[in-house]
Amino acid sequence: METLETDYLVVGAGASGMAFTDTLIDESDADVVMVDRRANPGGHWNDAYPFVRLHNPSAVYGVNSRRLGTDEIDEVGPNAGFYERATGAEICDYYRRVLEKDLLASGQVRFFGTSNYIGPDEGSHRFESRLTGETTAVAVRRRVVDATYVESSTPTTHTPPFDVDPDTRLVTPNELVELADPADGFTVIGAGKTAMDTCSWLLSQGVPPGEIRWIRPRDPWTFPRGSFEPLEHVPLFMESFSLWMKAAAVAEDVHDFFQRLENNEVLVPLDPEIEPETLRGATLSQDERDNLRRIRTVIRKGYVQRLEADRIVLDDGSVSTDPQHVHVDCTARGVETPPPQPIFAPDRITIQYIIAPGTIPFSPAITAYVEATRDDDAEKNRLCPPNPGFGDAEKLVGQTLVMLRAFAAWQAEPDIEDWRQRCRLSYTRGMNEHLDDPRVLGALERIGEYQESAIANLERLWEPAEPSTA
Ligand SMILES: Cc1cc2nc3c(=O)[nH]c(=O)nc-3n(C[C@H](O)[C@H](O)[C@H](O)COP(=O)(O)OP(=O)(O)OC[C@H]3O[C@@H](n4cnc5c(N)ncnc54)[C@H](O)[C@@H]3O)c2cc1C
Repeated sequence: METLETDYLVVGAGASGMAFTDTLIDESDADVVMVDRRANPGGHWNDAYPFVRLHNPSAVYGVNSRRLGTDEIDEVGPNAGFYERATGAEICDYYRRVLEKDLLASGQVRFFGTSNYIGPDEGSHRFESRLTGETTAVAVRRRVVDATYVESSTPTTHTPPFDVDPDTRLVTPNELVELADPADGFTVIGAGKTAMDTCSWLLSQGVPPGEIRWIRPRDPWTFPRGSFEPLEHVPLFMESFSLWMKAAAVAEDVHDFFQRLENNEVLVPLDPEIEPETLRGATLSQDERDNLRRIRTVIRKGYVQRLEADRIVLDDGSVSTDPQHVHVDCTARGVETPPPQPIFAPDRITIQYIIAPGTIPFSPAITAYVEATRDDDAEKNRLCPPNPGFGDAEKLVGQTLVMLRAFAAWQAEPDIEDWRQRCRLSYTRGMNEHLDDPRVLGALERIGEYQESAIANLERLWEPAEPSTA
C-alpha cells in the first residue's frame, strides 16, 4: 500500500473543501492532499438540475483567489438590475479551473478524485479508489479537514422520504427536462429553493399556472435579492443588515423579531397570507416571487406519506392524482445542518457555517485564514463559532447571534478585518469605498448603536435552545 505524507488531508472537494484549501495555501506553505468520491471538484453542483443557478451573486461565490463570472449586473430577465448568478455548468467549470490552475499549479496540493475516504487506521488515514479498490494511506502531520460534515443533499443523491407506487410518474428536476410523454398536470413536492426553481422553470416553459399544484408542508421565508448584493450595491446590503441587527436588539420575543424583519423587508414570506415556519436561505427577486404566487393550488396537508396511482396520501388527508400526472420530488434538504460541534479539535477541523444565511464558502475560507494565522485552538474556536444551521425559522435567532458574536470578535483583530475587506467571498468587501454614501453611513451608525444590545437580546431569546459550542 502506498503511503503519502502531508500537512492537511482535506476530505471533500465541494464548495467548502475548495474554499478552505484555496485560502490555506494562500496564507501558508502547507502541503495538502484532497480526496473526493466524485471524479471532479464542485460537490453537489456536479449533479445539479440543468436549470439551476446560484440564488446569490457569483461575485461572492467560489474561492477567494479566483473570480467566478464577470461581476456584471444583468440587464434583462428576472434577475435584471442584480449581479449575475452562475449556472450549475459554469460553477463546475469554475471549480475545475480552480483545481487545475490554482491548487494543483501551486505545487502544494494533490487531488485524488473517485476516491472514498475510509477513516483513520493505525496512526494514518486511508482512502480507497472507487475504480481500482486500491487503498492509500496518508500520514497527516497537522490535521484532517472534514469538509463533508455539512454535505448537501440534492434530488439525485437522496431517496424520497415517502412510499411510491410503481404506477406513478415521480421524477427528479433533472429528469423533468427529459419527459418522454406530455404530462396531465404537475405536482411539485417541497417548499425549498429546488421547488421554487422547478415551479419557475415550468412557468417559464409555458406550463399554465393552473396546471401546477405545489405541496408545501411548511411555508418558507425568503430573502429579497436586493438585500444580498455586493460591490456597487453594498449600500443595499448594509441597510438591510443594519435593520436586521436593530430588530435583533429591540425584539421582545421571537415572533416580534420576525415581525420586525418582515416590516423592514429583510425577510419576505413566500405567501403573504401564510406565516412561514422554515428558513433555508432562499433568495428571490420580487418578479420571481410574484411569478411563483401565480400558482394558486398550494396543498398544505402536511408531508407526503405515500404516492399512489390515483391519490397522494399526506399527513392530514389526501388529494387525487392520476398515472399521467407528473410529480416532481423536490424534498432533498440541500444544505445539511447536523448538530454544531467545535470547528477546531485536536488533529481535526470540521467545516461548518459561521456566517449563514449569506454566502456559504465564506465560512470555510475564514476558517482556513484563522488556522493559518493563529496557534491556539481555543482562540481559533472563539473566532470561528459554528452556527445552528438552517431549518425551522426560529434558528435564525441562533444564526444571527453566532454571526454577531463572530463579527464582534473579528472587529477586534485588525488582520482579520483587513482580510475580510479584501476577501471576494464577503458581502462587505470594498465597503470602505462607499463611506460617502448616506445609506452606508446610516447603516454603520445603526450597527454601532445596536450591536451590543442585539447580542445581549439574542442571548436572552436563544438561551433555552443554545447549543453548548456556540
Ligand atoms: C439548488 C442550490 C442552490 C444553492 N445556491 C447557493 C448560493 O447561491 N449561494 C450559496 O452560498 N450557497 C448556495 N447553495 C448551498 C450550497 O450547497 C453550498 O454553497 C455548497 O455548494 C455546499 O458545498 P459543500 O462542499 O459544503 O458540500 P457538497 O457540495 O455536498 O460537497 C461535499 C463533498 O464531499 C464529498 N464526500 C462526502 N463524503 C466523502 C467521503 N467519505 N470520501 C470522499 N469524499 C466524500 C462529496 O462527494 C462531495 O463532493 C445552494 C444549494 C443548492 C442545493
